[in-house]
Amino acid sequence: MQPKIYSADEHRISPDKVDQHAHYVIHKLQEAGYVAYLVGGGVRDLLLEETPKDFDVSTSAKPEEIRKLFRNAILIGRRFRLAHIRFGKKIIEVSTFRSGDTDASGLIVRDNEWGTEEQDVLRRDFTINGLFYNPENQTVIDYVEGYTDLEKRILRTIGQPEVRFCQDPVRMIRLIKFQARLKFKIEEPTYNALLHCRGEILKSSSARVLEELLRMLESKASKPFFELLHQYGVLRALLPEVDHYLEISKTPDLFDLLGIVDQHAPLDRGLLIAALVFPIFDTYIKERTRQLEKIPHLGQIAEAAGMVIDAIFGDFVALPRRLQGIATFVVACQYRFIPLDSLPVRRPRAPRDPLFPLALQLLQLRSMANPELVPHYTLWSGVSFASQEVQSAAPVEPRRPRRRRRRS
Ligand code: ATP
Ligand code: MG
Repeated sequence: MQPKIYSADEHRISPDKVDQHAHYVIHKLQEAGYVAYLVGGGVRDLLLEETPKDFDVSTSAKPEEIRKLFRNAILIGRRFRLAHIRFGKKIIEVSTFRSGDTDASGLIVRDNEWGTEEQDVLRRDFTINGLFYNPENQTVIDYVEGYTDLEKRILRTIGQPEVRFCQDPVRMIRLIKFQARLKFKIEEPTYNALLHCRGEILKSSSARVLEELLRMLESKASKPFFELLHQYGVLRALLPEVDHYLEISKTPDLFDLLGIVDQHAPLDRGLLIAALVFPIFDTYIKERTRQLEKIPHLGQIAEAAGMVIDAIFGDFVALPRRLQGIATFVVACQYRFIPLDSLPVRRPRAPRDPLFPLALQLLQLRSMANPELVPHYTLWSGVSFASQEVQSAAPVEPRRPRRRRRRS
């Protein structure tokens, strides 16, 4: 198939926005006789006049050939090897054109193997992510009508949506991520396929799903992302406890908190999990306290927080222990700040825990979502500063051995 080519005067990519290292890599590959383009999210974001997060390069050169050309390249990946070319802290990912798991009609072919540039596009997820850009002559190369979809602000799978979602259900989360981030419309067949295939999400790798969820919590669009996940019935499969909470809660305090989180992105991942979990745990622990007619102490609250976090993330999206531990501390600490018995804290003392600042940060976010909490945050941030000042003013001296009292 012949691609559509858009020249420099037709599109809005300004060449100075293209990362100079990515351009250098492409230049060197082309000079050596290979085909090489910028591809994927980088091209999409350049066309939208946004700053791309990363610049990926696709080429006809095989991994070993890439390595020979660049001294600073290392090959990664076992089955599909690709090159990472390092420039200081920056990495340009260079992958060889390969064919996907389907042919052009969407039928599953036997195996992944090296392919042509067209096949390399056809294995990609959405048309807006299937564009090449050649910085040498500043052309956009389009095999999938991605350019017009970008202009019309439409999300459409490459190939038949049901086949594509069944092959890799993470694509459904990516679809919702792009809608939340870009505010594009999902075209009808893709939307219908999402509704039809959403249960398949549990067949995907839970590590990849967790990574997409964390990335979205870190983005500036976690609120619309979770709203859409809920609205499209995907959250019910992924995080049923969160979905249930959204169904029964009368006030959308979780979304308020995520809205504040988005204004302060990116935040620590443990804190983000704590923010997601806190409104659910708060409802749970308050209900439990009412039932028991007894105020649980901080240890019991921490134990309950750990249990609730395990219940939320237990089934499919397994949380790494480290993140679970941070989120548990941060959530439990909220009841040190504002005790369940609602009595004023008379002598606030900051615990000597390196996670305390994160717990305080959640209180700050909560107070931004709910101004009634501002006095609590003011009180505790003062305590925290005071304790830090004391600690920095008085360096910890090694403890002297206790002198034995002399017997007289
Ligand atoms: P972001 O801005 O979040 O990085 P992205 O589109 O660049 O978005 P990446 O995860 O960096 O996402 O993937 C790079 C490219 O790889 C995508 O643009 C797309 O072409 C392709 N891709 C990523 N995930 C999939 C998938 N699950 N199925 C098919 N193609 C994919
Ligand atoms: Mg990317």
